[in-house]
Amino acid sequence: MLDDFNRCKICGEWAWLSSHSCKPRWQIIRKDYDEEDDYENAYGHDAENAAIKYVEENFSYWEYPEDIEVWIRKTEDDQWEKFAIYVESVPSFSAERIE
Ligand SMILES: [Zn+2]
Repeated sequence: MLDDFNRCKICGEWAWLSSHSCKPRWQIIRKDYDEEDDYENAYGHDAENAAIKYVEENFSYWEYPEDIEVWIRKTEDDQWEKFAIYVESVPSFSAERIE
């Protein structure tokens, strides 16, 4: 059933939804833009994985190379874990016929 392969409305992952369960949820902020209680949700099996996926999904339109500092935690009771996420473009080659 192809219909079943879709984007999860909760975590944003592409998956077979009938057998999908979201990865653990984290609270995340962009250090220079968000207040500490103004966090968004990120999903991943650990803090680093969730932080990377959050930046990948939300900021992939950036000019490269770029980096962003994010703070992430499990709940309000936890300390923030801090990550600098680096974005690099991958070289790509193409040809165009010229006169
Ligand atoms: Zn999900």
